Amino acid sequence: MLVRGVAFRLRGELPSEARFLLEDFRLAVNNAIRAGLQARVTSRNALSKLAYKDFRQAHPRMYSQHLVSAFEVAGSVLKNCRRRLRKSGAGRVPYVRRLMMKAGNQAYKLDRERGVVDLPIRAGCHVKLELRVSDYHRRYLDDPSLTLGSLTLLPDRVIVTFRKEAPRPYVPESALSLDTNERSLDGVFVKGYQARAVKAEFHDAATIQQRHHDRRKRLQRKKAHDRRTSRRLCRREGAREHHRIEYRLHQVANAVISFAEDQRSAIVLEELKGFKTRWNRELNRRLSLWPRRKLHQIIEYKAQWRGIPVVKVDPRYSSRTCPICGRIQDSRMGAEFVCECGWHLDRHINASLNLLQTAISKGMAGGLRFNPGAFQHDVMMILYDPVTGARSEPNGTSCISEAASEVTAR
Ligand SMILES: [Zn+2]
Repeated sequence: MLVRGVAFRLRGELPSEARFLLEDFRLAVNNAIRAGLQARVTSRNALSKLAYKDFRQAHPRMYSQHLVSAFEVAGSVLKNCRRRLRKSGAGRVPYVRRLMMKAGNQAYKLDRERGVVDLPIRAGCHVKLELRVSDYHRRYLDDPSLTLGSLTLLPDRVIVTFRKEAPRPYVPESALSLDTNERSLDGVFVKGYQARAVKAEFHDAATIQQRHHDRRKRLQRKKAHDRRTSRRLCRREGAREHHRIEYRLHQVANAVISFAEDQRSAIVLEELKGFKTRWNRELNRRLSLWPRRKLHQIIEYKAQWRGIPVVKVDPRYSSRTCPICGRIQDSRMGAEFVCECGWHLDRHINASLNLLQTAISKGMAGGLRFNPGAFQHDVMMILYDPVTGARSEPNGTSCISEAASEVTAR
């Protein structure tokens, strides 16, 4: 089962009843957390046994399904706290500050046509929350294959989860093999006997990271006398950075995904493993795997949602192997991969050829065949470019058939 959360802004203010419910919910969660810590339990049922009665007496009219889901939230907070404790040995007593509540799919109703949530507060009292619905939201609301999951209510928005059965991946007719680098995805697109270089850039992610890093450094210097303010401002910077980068990663992933879907491609990616941390902290930060790993997660998730096959390949030696003669070079070289057999190619694209060959030789990419010799050096297809924000070629087939006819004409 695949799950996707979709956020809706509210039309108008949150009704005051709903606001009280949020406050009661937070109270219930924090009570249950305290009870759970004392009794050293984290499961929803155990928490419910412990805390239900007391809270019920104090708040006799709260809808009981909401109460149960408060125990569930408390349980997951406790589990996270326990994990942190095990990992770092330190931890404070958890306390939920943020106003939020969660309702299971039995505990609310959503009018998918009009975009109105009916949320029970207590016996005889319901609130209606009107959602702002855009085309993006319509795609989820109008799709009858999606069922409703839980709902999360926040003071200014509502997050509805939609669920669907994972579609069976199609049998690929082509392959898109991508080598993940610090600032771009570089690779090949292979269809029939033709292969072409492709590129999707996200170099601005690194620029943004650098800029926010500098800004945080400056803030820390400026607010050195006031740690509390410094921390608060740095956290805000961090959140901004996170949003900005994630937005860009989604754009890149969308470009890759829609290209692969148009071409009925399998997507071949490398398995990103942890890398050795070095003594140089600056370098560690700069090479942080986070954006790349996140990008892979987004691509994999979106592909699963749409039934696009994704193949993960062990990248060992992929940057040092010659795809023609199979020789493994001793060390990494410059921007160009050069082999004694005469083969030479851009280092990143060469790596992606090797990834693809591994996937094919292990039978992971369906019945695709591919001969690296058919690789065409001339024109690069740009899947995504942050400057134009879109693909330069809306349809890859046209350009490939053009190239093919060019070759035969010669
Ligand atoms: Zn060679």
